[in-house]
Amino acid sequence: MPNEAAAPPLLIQGLTVKYGSFIAVDNISFMVNSGEIYGLLGPNGAGKTSTLKTIIGLVQPASGRIEVFGKPISDEVAVKSMIGYVPEEIILMDSLTPREFLEFVASIRRLDANTVNTRLEKLVSAFRLGEYFDTPIAALSKGNKQKVAIVAALLHEPQLLILDEPLIGLDAFSSKILKELIVFHAKKGGAVIFSTHIMEVAERLCTRVGIIHRGRMVGEGTVEGLRKIVKNAGSSLEEIFLKVTEQESGVQEIIKALEA
Ligand code: ATP
Repeated sequence: MPNEAAAPPLLIQGLTVKYGSFIAVDNISFMVNSGEIYGLLGPNGAGKTSTLKTIIGLVQPASGRIEVFGKPISDEVAVKSMIGYVPEEIILMDSLTPREFLEFVASIRRLDANTVNTRLEKLVSAFRLGEYFDTPIAALSKGNKQKVAIVAALLHEPQLLILDEPLIGLDAFSSKILKELIVFHAKKGGAVIFSTHIMEVAERLCTRVGIIHRGRMVGEGTVEGLRKIVKNAGSSLEEIFLKVTEQESGVQEIIKALEA
């Protein structure tokens, strides 16, 4: 029996994801501990979304072990109650209003009405969604749909947040609020894993990062730790990222070509 008290929020061992014969994620392993904000980085098509989707069961792994607080992801009911997930591509129920949609989510999660109302009030006000609360989702902007999806993922106060490029589409204010929420969540002992292309955000927010390139984990640890390991790279996470994903010389070539 796994020791759930000591089990990390997320444990991934030897994960491989295939689409037909194409290997999108190639034998990667990492864990996310309580109180951690883990950044999953990688160029377009590296395998970040595929990795995140396996955790919530949207993609079936070809092999590997995934556990959430010591529970295998096949234990869907237990695992889903501990996870809040915001996908890269938001799909909501367009004919409902945010109020109706979030009430629906709360009912599926079997949340008590008073608790939900208090949480909803805080989150809706934090993301300035109040004025759109009774507008059909179909009529909302991309950013406001994204905010509704974030509120839906936070409603049951999950211990593990899984966010796939959560800042894309958010305005500066909402982006700041989400970053504050992520930090607050980790400070309370929760865990967060999020994918991003914004190196500055990852560098500032993440306790550790995992850099995936062509499905493989090519760099993992604290930014400070990576600075020591990755030779001949600058000190910023962006420079380390470009080095380990073998894109640094490409950037230099393009700069030279532009200057010529
Ligand atoms: P991005 O930063 O562009 O969102 P990503 O790191 O999230 O990329 P994935 O979406 O996981 O990458 O894709 C990894 C690889 O798997 C890509 O080559 C992609 O084309 C491929 N892929 C993803 N989903 C499918 C699918 N359903 N069928 C076939 N190939 C897929």
